[in-house]
Amino acid sequence: MSFAELKEKIIKNYDTTDITLVERAYKFAEKVHEGQTRKSGDAYITHPLAIASALADLKLDQATIAAALLHDVIEDGGATEDDVKKEFGEDVAFLVEGVTKLGKLKYRGAERMAESLRKMFLATAEDIRVVLIKLMDRAHNMETLRALPEEKQKRIALETLEIYAPLADRLGLGQLKARLEDLAFPYVYPEEYQWLQNNVKEAFKERVKYIEHIMPVVRELLSKENIPVLAMDARAKHQYSLWRKLAKFDMDVTKINDLVALRIIVPTVSDCYQALGAIHAGWRPLPGKIKDYIALPKPNGYKSLHTTVFGPDGEIVEFQIRTEEMHEEAEHGIAAHWAYNEHKKTKGYKTSAPSEADKDKIHWVSQLKDWQKDVPDPNEFLNSLKIEFFKNRIFVLTPKGDAIDLPEGATALDFAYHVHSQIGDTASGARVNGKMVPLNHELSNFDVAEIITQKNKKPSADWLGFVKTSMARRHITSKIRRAEEDRRFSEHQGKQMVEVRVIAKDRVGLVNDLTAVVASFKINIKGMRTERGERSHPLVLMNCPVKSNDEMRKLLMKLKSVRGVEEVGYRII
Ligand code: MN
Repeated sequence: MSFAELKEKIIKNYDTTDITLVERAYKFAEKVHEGQTRKSGDAYITHPLAIASALADLKLDQATIAAALLHDVIEDGGATEDDVKKEFGEDVAFLVEGVTKLGKLKYRGAERMAESLRKMFLATAEDIRVVLIKLMDRAHNMETLRALPEEKQKRIALETLEIYAPLADRLGLGQLKARLEDLAFPYVYPEEYQWLQNNVKEAFKERVKYIEHIMPVVRELLSKENIPVLAMDARAKHQYSLWRKLAKFDMDVTKINDLVALRIIVPTVSDCYQALGAIHAGWRPLPGKIKDYIALPKPNGYKSLHTTVFGPDGEIVEFQIRTEEMHEEAEHGIAAHWAYNEHKKTKGYKTSAPSEADKDKIHWVSQLKDWQKDVPDPNEFLNSLKIEFFKNRIFVLTPKGDAIDLPEGATALDFAYHVHSQIGDTASGARVNGKMVPLNHELSNFDVAEIITQKNKKPSADWLGFVKTSMARRHITSKIRRAEEDRRFSEHQGKQMVEVRVIAKDRVGLVNDLTAVVASFKINIKGMRTERGERSHPLVLMNCPVKSNDEMRKLLMKLKSVRGVEEVGYRII
């Protein structure tokens, strides 16, 4: 891919001759990366060019293409954020910075981390274009992965499989998801990949031959019913998903009906259903294999009709029927919408550029909401919901790259408590992006924070004035209360009066059992009464002189173990 080719592609795809922004971005990137080479030996500029080209295929706006060309000028080229902002303005600079920040996230193969990283990506996807550039960046890096040292290959491929491919899937980018998975597959599971090459090739060839053989028959059948066909092709299941499916079927290739499916593109939704009817009239369908993803789209928005029939010569064959629009969406998902909206803009819709962009963002969010409506699986539903939820959250990284998610406005101290309560309790200061800051310092998305602790440091009441999370508040309050109690216990020479409260199910001998526990601590009860508590359970109140916080906690624990006791509590009196 040369710049001349990219230029040609944009002019053709975008129906425009004004590509000044892209051209300037290319010249800037070319200069910054001058003399740099990729590990593969290619000139560095080939990498941003490949990504820009992939995004131009998706017809993303020119700001995105420019940002793709510039995406490594800060990280790998030594340019600054200010340079980019000065040269290309806020929009492009925002995209480049976003991609640079995403590049700092490190994944170390923990499942917990995978989930939090995927959320982080989507949280920043308030501008989805950042994620699209990053996904294409990864796809191109995967293509040149051979050039890297072996242990790096495996790490990057695993990250691709567990973070990037699921993200592409969630955004409905079916084609990209398949590409990422198939690129990563041989690195992550080399033996399984080899097995697939050795054992499926023949079956695969036969299936392609069969599908090609029946295509004219299908065409004939549909034309007899006057159903217009826009396109028909054999669609091979991609390798990684085939392997996953085989693993479920004892590696028996004959059990995979959709090894190669026959895809039919028709003009309208009603044509889809008519085609389905015609196919079923011609060949007997397999029960339970008819899937109406038009009425019930998949969580990522996928729409199509699927059916599996005993086809010509009694062979089992899967059909996928969809409109052109559904096809475009299945392949390019969210990007299809961007392109569509951009297109509308060029056709003279009366909206200014920024508000059009805002509408796209809103559209994206509302589309995710729509998707979750039809999701039968409650876990899927929850996942969709979390994207909304995480919109007002920030992600702060530990020096090791673990992501801690916090509400907007959270401080360094909130971060400390979310890393570990012990770290919060003993925090004395913080270092954020390498600079020393006080504990009340407000954090921003993607800050890298490190907490400085002091062994004998204790939480202070002032802290409650600035922490933003309930978790930090809870820890601080309980620590302060505990310290206050310790002070009172020591002031009263080991005889602090405490009112102990017990809620229990009523039964004969309850009060006896409770007083026996108190007596076992050699405590003389100074007063005792019973009230009606919640759910009309008795509430027993006992005034006990207690020696220390430690003794009180042991007493409460013992009382809790008495039969019928549901709740214990206390207050210092
Ligand atoms: Mn890159």
